[in-house]
Amino acid sequence: MTSADYVGRFAPSPTGHLHFGSLLAAMASYCDARSQGGSWLVRIDDIDPPRAMPCATTLIPRSLIRYGFQWDGEIVFQSARTQLYQQHLLSLCKKNVLFLCHCTRKELIGHANYPGTCRQHRVEKIPEPNGQSALRVLINANVAFDDLIQGPQSFIVGAHFGDTVVVRRDDLFSYALCCAVDDADGISHVIRGSDLLPTTGVQVRLMQLLGLNIPTYAHIPVALNADQQKLSKQTLADPIDEMPVLPTLLRAWQFLGQTELNVHSVESFWQAAIAAWRLSRVPNCQSQEQ
Ligand code: GLU
Repeated sequence: MTSADYVGRFAPSPTGHLHFGSLLAAMASYCDARSQGGSWLVRIDDIDPPRAMPCATTLIPRSLIRYGFQWDGEIVFQSARTQLYQQHLLSLCKKNVLFLCHCTRKELIGHANYPGTCRQHRVEKIPEPNGQSALRVLINANVAFDDLIQGPQSFIVGAHFGDTVVVRRDDLFSYALCCAVDDADGISHVIRGSDLLPTTGVQVRLMQLLGLNIPTYAHIPVALNADQQKLSKQTLADPIDEMPVLPTLLRAWQFLGQTELNVHSVESFWQAAIAAWRLSRVPNCQSQEQ
C-alpha cells in the first residue's frame, strides 16, 4: 500500500463533548494514518438529531484543534449525505433483502439478536414512512474478518448478529447503514473502540450486500472508569476540554501501550508520537481501566 492509499478517519457522533475514550480513538486512528504517510479525515455522524447535543458539532472540531489534531480536507457531515444513503437503500431493496418490521422494543426484550419475526414482510419498493415500522435488512450470511489488533473475528447469523435496522421507525437512516456506506467510500482503515466490534460484523455484511470495498479494521480497548463502566456521556465521562492537554495526550498514549515519550509541548508530542507509533503495541484486550 502506498501512503496515498491509506485513508483513516475519526467519526464522533455529536451527542456530547469528546471524552478520554474519544481521544483514544482519535489518537490511534491519527497516529496510524500519519505514521504511514496517509490521510486522516474527520466525519461527524450527525444522522440522529434526537440524540444530538446542540453545539457539539462546533465543540468537537474545537477540541480536536486544541489537542493538536490536523485533519485533511473539510469535515464530512453525515447529514449532508442522505441522498447517498437513499441510493444504497434502493440497491438493498433491489436485492430483495429488505423487510418491514413492526416489532416494538418491548417485543424484542430478551432477544440478544433479532429473532426474524417479520422476515415475511419483504418489500419490493421503499415504503412511505408511517412512524409504525422500521426497515430491516436480512442478514443471511456469516461474516469473518481479521482485526489488526483483536485478531480473527467471526460473526455467526443468529448467534452473534441478526437482521439489522437500516431505516428506523422514526424514518431516520440507521447508524449501521450510514457508517457502512461512508467507511466503504474511500476509507482504507477504520480504527475505533472495541465496543463497536459487534456492529462491525453487521457493517461488513452490509458492505458485502452492497458490493462495496471493505476497509481494514482495528479495534482498540475501550477505557473503563473505576466502576468498570465504559467512558461515555451516559457514564458522565469528563470532557477532555476540562483537562490539561499534554498530560492527557501522554495518558492516552500510555493507555495505547506505546513506549514512553520525553516531550514538553503538544507539537513535539505529535512529532514524536507519529514517529514512534506501533499499532502492534496496542493491547489486544477489549477494555481496560484508564
Ligand atoms: N459515530 C459513532 C460513535 O461515535 C461511530 C464511531 C465509529 O464508527 O468510529 O460511536
